[in-house]
Amino acid sequence: MIDTHCHLDHPSFAADRALVLQRSIDAGIRQWIIPAIVLRHFSAMQALQTAHIHLAWGLHPLFYAEHPEDALNQLAEWLSHTPPLAIGEIGLDGFAPPASQDQQMHLFCGQLAMAQSLRLPVLLHVRKCHEEVLGVLKKSAFAYGGVVHAYSGSWQQAERYLERGFCLGIGGVVTRPQATRLREIVSRVADHALVLESDAPDLPPVACSGQRNEPAFIRHTVATLAQLRNCSADSIAESTTANARRILSLHPSNHMPPQE
Ligand SMILES: [Zn+2]
Repeated sequence: MIDTHCHLDHPSFAADRALVLQRSIDAGIRQWIIPAIVLRHFSAMQALQTAHIHLAWGLHPLFYAEHPEDALNQLAEWLSHTPPLAIGEIGLDGFAPPASQDQQMHLFCGQLAMAQSLRLPVLLHVRKCHEEVLGVLKKSAFAYGGVVHAYSGSWQQAERYLERGFCLGIGGVVTRPQATRLREIVSRVADHALVLESDAPDLPPVACSGQRNEPAFIRHTVATLAQLRNCSADSIAESTTANARRILSLHPSNHMPPQE
């Protein structure tokens, strides 16, 4: 399996990152993708890169106040010598103060243009802004798809993302019985639509609530997806892995990854 969204560079993993990775290997995960948040953490993230731990570079919309004024130029410069797997995480966050909307839009459009010119997929962070994001994707004719991380939109919006070559990132939220709209969507969407993500250290599945989330907990998400889609956990693992490889141009990795 592939964890398409985990913040393994987060300080909460500093003391036991090797153990966290080993537990996720034991749970069947073979590749991890770390999306970036702010420029000043890029170097620390880069130190974690291996043949199995992949990086995405980007400026997170919710951290708009921490991006320097020339952040887009700095990102472009970084991308010119350190090519990533994807651009992310980028997008729009409707929970942020309305005063940040213009800056969020400026950063999102600038980064989408970079992804377009580098022919890279994007890892999208979208909360309460799916219409706006879909509008930007359409207007810019963005052609390289990606993942809508921690999908929170409607069925109709999901269909429009899928038409644009995106997959829906599904994590611990789907294990919540009250997440009725999301559970309805994942129960009837096509096999090619879903990828797995932990979003560690955030959003743990219900079975691990109150704990620091980690990639190994994806097994709970897989169990819920299997139950909702009335299929085996193996078939969820198989289809989501194939989807992540297709969307992110990842090569199969069947051998055991080294510990760190
Ligand atoms: Zn994230």
